Amino acid sequence: MSDQLANQIAFFQQQLPATTKLIAVSKTHSVEKIRAAYEVGVRDFAENRLQEALAKQKELADLKDICWHFIGHLQKNKAKKAIAHFDWIHTIDSLALAKKLNNYAATMAVVPKCCLQVKPLPDPNKFGWDFEQLQQDLSGLAACNHLKIQGLMTILPLGLTSNEILAAFTSVQKLKEQLNENSAFPFALSELSMGMSGDYELAVQAGSTMIRVGSAIFGQRSYA
Ligand SMILES: *Cc1c(COP(=O)(O)O)cnc(C)c1O
Repeated sequence: MSDQLANQIAFFQQQLPATTKLIAVSKTHSVEKIRAAYEVGVRDFAENRLQEALAKQKELADLKDICWHFIGHLQKNKAKKAIAHFDWIHTIDSLALAKKLNNYAATMAVVPKCCLQVKPLPDPNKFGWDFEQLQQDLSGLAACNHLKIQGLMTILPLGLTSNEILAAFTSVQKLKEQLNENSAFPFALSELSMGMSGDYELAVQAGSTMIRVGSAIFGQRSYA
């Protein structure tokens, strides 16, 4: 198992441009698998559930240089814990959540690295901003000066063709550039968190800087 895992990780590392980071999505997978990935050089791991992540982090406390990424929907009542235990929050999906995180960050005297979750296509099953809604919240976000908003994150709807996927990722990349040119938006966005096992190649083509890969590294997830 761990040979196969090492091969998969090597496969990813070799084909990624230097500007794209591999984030290993370890949700539902064991700490043994995380250690195996760590041993072959992975330092960035992502989890989507706070409880599960905190239990794993405890068991992996000896691996001091892991960078933990939170990629799940974050409930406001868990915002404080998320800031305390993660280096990155990829999934700020509302102004209300941003304000909550900002308030906690201020009292904790930290400046967490974050991405705004956006939806380039309508998708009632996902959290995040439509591009137009985001424009309306820009001034509210601009006031969140205890957050280091560094990028945009997206998860695409299922069932798109390759052309549609590439177009959707490219529109997120364009939105990032547009925000960087907007003087009402004080953050400099350098990151694009986009691409998963099934669509990372197209995400990389569109300029992704962080691909979030789970099953292609760790195998199928079982939610038993
Ligand atoms: C589970 C998950 C991934 C990884 O998905 P795979 O298809 O297994 O690579 C990426 N991003 C988010 C937000 C996820 O929840």
